[in-house]
Amino acid sequence: MDHSPRRSVAFIGSECHPFVKTGGLGDVMYALPQALNKMNCDVRVILPRYECIPQKYQDKMVYRGEFYMDLGYTGRDYYVGIMEYVCDGIVYDFIDNKEFFDGKKPYSNLVDDIPKYIFFSKAALAALLYMDWIPDVIHCHDWQASLVPLFLRTMFQDSKLNRSKTILTIHNLRFQGVYNVGTIKYWSGLPDYLFNDDVLTQNWSNANMFKGGLSYCDRITTVSPTYAKEIQTSEYGENLEAHLRYHSGKLSGIINGIDCEVFNPASDAMLTANYDINSVLSAKRINKKALQEELGLEVDENKMVLGLISRLTDQKGLDLFNSIIPYLLDGNTQIVVLGTGEKVYEDAFRQFEYDNRGSFSACIQYDEARAHRIYSAADAMLVPSRFEPCGLTQLNAMRYGTIPIVRETGGLKDTVEPYNQYASSGNGFTFDRYEANLFLDAINRAKNLYFTKRDKWNEMIKRDMEKDVSWENSAKVYRDLYLSITN
Ligand code: ADP
Repeated sequence: MDHSPRRSVAFIGSECHPFVKTGGLGDVMYALPQALNKMNCDVRVILPRYECIPQKYQDKMVYRGEFYMDLGYTGRDYYVGIMEYVCDGIVYDFIDNKEFFDGKKPYSNLVDDIPKYIFFSKAALAALLYMDWIPDVIHCHDWQASLVPLFLRTMFQDSKLNRSKTILTIHNLRFQGVYNVGTIKYWSGLPDYLFNDDVLTQNWSNANMFKGGLSYCDRITTVSPTYAKEIQTSEYGENLEAHLRYHSGKLSGIINGIDCEVFNPASDAMLTANYDINSVLSAKRINKKALQEELGLEVDENKMVLGLISRLTDQKGLDLFNSIIPYLLDGNTQIVVLGTGEKVYEDAFRQFEYDNRGSFSACIQYDEARAHRIYSAADAMLVPSRFEPCGLTQLNAMRYGTIPIVRETGGLKDTVEPYNQYASSGNGFTFDRYEANLFLDAINRAKNLYFTKRDKWNEMIKRDMEKDVSWENSAKVYRDLYLSITN
């Protein structure tokens, strides 16, 4: 039983597992409310009712009410429906309007997405008022919900909602909702005094919705402490570094967790052999052989298997990986890549497979079951990202007793402690600068331990499986943040 004071929190964001998900944001919007629910937080999640949400969820939604809302200088009143779905103690309220939320995908192009999320942000606040549910905290996620703090402190300042505090979480700084000032003024109707360089305007003629939200929210969080520091530098700041430095007093980083029910080697139905910390070594051998058979690799439990599971984009450090592959394939090492993305990487990995049959496998696909089998069978998992706000692959890997080899950036740096041979401590192998040689050195250090000091390697497997990568710790930090900004 949690005895901390009760707090009510409205999550506002553009995606949430299992209804609609394109990335890590969708996982957080699902898992964090569940974890907070157990910590005396009353959470309501507000989402767009996209047409593309699967019918089985649409069928479970219950009509909660409707009203009409004006929007910017459009001169029109827009329909706002509220459809509700309650699941595992969490209330999901879907904002309904077919004009904005039709289509096969949640996101399309900025021409459509800018009005869509301006409408959504304002409608979310209006829906809270309509339902007379006044939360202690309004927790907004990414640029799509970033106008909420601005609407709240302008058009809604005389409403009951004005007592709510706001948090804006950065999951992905790359997308910011930037468009010309005229368009954003037209759709939002926000007052002229917000269109200045301290709040919404950038480069004189554009308005940046994320930038405005970061100015007006009470607290900013991002998904790891290291990334919170990195985004204040030009290398990672996506042109908002000066703005973030200015607001650094209210900025902090809170690491994500993973769903330890979904990623549980003891009960994972997708694995050949299930295991816990006591049976990991023997089960991993069985899983390795099964994976080698499944992928047409040479079946040999003595080979070291390196896995890489990733979207195949520049962010993930694949140019480094590509350039060292020939040096990794030494006759004792096998490589398994699972991912889809940019054609140049897909083609390169297919070519490596063609040239190295039996020791290199390129699975150019999105396949969760196969991902789980790779986590359970590989000896090490490679994550050489150029930048990584939090990163989940290294957390999944550790949960499955697979040693992560990562670049020291963002959440990778915060979650993978480098192996220290003198103290027999650490969870994996790391390298700092974004250089192929350093990545190769880190893998070679791992290989050296694997092939020459297997007892030390096995101890690290157990340390990794013991590491707490659940949402619970992170949710506590969010809960404490809610408490600290509310009376
Ligand atoms: P991203 O930047 O893509 O959100 P994360 O590391 O935060 O990266 O999360 C990636 C998640 O997606 C991990 O759980 C990983 O296992 C999963 N994943 C990535 N690519 C694939 C794939 N091709 N098939 C199955 N799962 C994948």
